[in-house]
Amino acid sequence: MGVFRELGRRVEQFKADAETAAEENAPFRCEACGARFDEDHERCPDCGAEGTVALDD
Ligand SMILES: [Zn+2]
Repeated sequence: MGVFRELGRRVEQFKADAETAAEENAPFRCEACGARFDEDHERCPDCGAEGTVALDD
């Protein structure tokens, strides 16, 4: 019954790709660790550094 296991793996990969694409377009970034966010944070949820910067292109 490896079919379901393979399907699950593909779904996980799809979700990971979608999250990566979203992060690449996120308008805010932590200068300390480079994590990207859809919304501004007082502290980086990833590394805890203060301040995130808005990326205006
Ligand atoms: Zn950070």
